[in-house]
Amino acid sequence: MRIEVITIGDEILSGTTLNTNFQYIAEKVSSCGVSVSKHTVCSDEKNELKQTLSDVTQRAKIVITTGGLGPTLDDCTKNILAEFFCSSLRVDEEVKMDLIQRYGHHETIQSQSTVPTNADILKNTIGTAPGFCFQKDGLTLFSLPGVPIEMAEMLETQVIPHLQKLLIHSDKVEIRRISMWNMSENMISPLIENLNRKYPHVQFGIYPGFGILKIAGKSSVKNEKDLDSCFEILKNEYKTQVFCDTFSSVEMALHQLLVKEKKTLVLAESLTGGHIAAKLTNLPGASNYFLGSIVSYSNDVKKNVLGVGGKNLEEKGAVSQEVAIEMAEGALKLASSDYALAVTGVAGPSGGTENKPVGTVWCALSQKNSTTFSWKIMAKGRGKRASVIEYTANYILGALWRYIAHDITPREDER
Ligand code: ATP
Ligand code: MG
Repeated sequence: MRIEVITIGDEILSGTTLNTNFQYIAEKVSSCGVSVSKHTVCSDEKNELKQTLSDVTQRAKIVITTGGLGPTLDDCTKNILAEFFCSSLRVDEEVKMDLIQRYGHHETIQSQSTVPTNADILKNTIGTAPGFCFQKDGLTLFSLPGVPIEMAEMLETQVIPHLQKLLIHSDKVEIRRISMWNMSENMISPLIENLNRKYPHVQFGIYPGFGILKIAGKSSVKNEKDLDSCFEILKNEYKTQVFCDTFSSVEMALHQLLVKEKKTLVLAESLTGGHIAAKLTNLPGASNYFLGSIVSYSNDVKKNVLGVGGKNLEEKGAVSQEVAIEMAEGALKLASSDYALAVTGVAGPSGGTENKPVGTVWCALSQKNSTTFSWKIMAKGRGKRASVIEYTANYILGALWRYIAHDITPREDER
């Protein structure tokens, strides 16, 4: 059964709003065992929307739209849908009472409780605009508001259960996913090509980003065994790099491990300027293990807070093995932590030299009552500062994850 999505709003087309709604919907629909066949972004302009609806409904049996259900002038989805489904409009007393109860009497209540006569109402318990479900001649169209938290709640509690019923007799697909650390598309390609030849009924998607590679595989239910074989082979081949059986972040893998092992972590960050700490503190529960980060960007902070020796800074430079080691050991001692990670490098775009080009990063991992490891990487960011920083953060978090999970000592240029 073909499913299409329409996200409506000028703000998406102008680039002002990132279209997170589509990503969310596509993921939830995939988890029902079917894929979205096509996604259209449509402006708020009435004729555009009419044309889009007419095009999409010629192909798809299930359509999900988001946006334009509110009371503002630019919101025209409700009226256009009513026209499209030849429906009149009526005031729904239940919606009206609910809005009055939650928001009191308000000038927009009348318009927000006006609904198409021949649509089922999808309740919005978070915001004001109800959603709708139209069913006509084998077509089912769900219309949801654009506000992401409202859309998400209504999708999960009302649309997905309905969708699962509609899909009972359709061909389901099975999906498997993994996330890998310190891996590029080029490195995995030969193996994926082999798997493609051996298991032609499995389709792969490869999604690289800043040293993290995500792989998805898809097959029909009857080829599920082949799909599982492919993912067993992938996991076996890259045992110590696959950090998750879904699409996830490397900080989440490390977070879960440190919580489980009841170990603490402190950071000494130079080029990443707190970015690694931000990744960890974004995860609820980070306080269980994360002690803090010393953003030792200047030589003075490296010296005065972390106790890095002036001699090394002068003779070897801030981007050096000696300084990385002293940063990690200084942080470990300062915070009495189980583990410390340190990074010092050239983020660019300027500041690179022949010996230390942009992307050169010295890393160190120090462990309580144990030796400190230090090694160099070339952070692949094509000279882009933000990319070098992101790559470095992913890299060092994964290096500690692998050290704890698989007892593998980090070493220079592992790729
Ligand atoms: P409201 O009652 O708030 O007006 P609505 O259905 O009319 O609801 P819109 O006006 O289209 O929704 O969008 C409301 C907010 O949701 C805006 O801030 C918009 O940027 C955001 N939004 C809309 N569509 C998307 C989308 N596809 N992805 C992410 N955010 C979105
Ligand atoms: Mg609106």
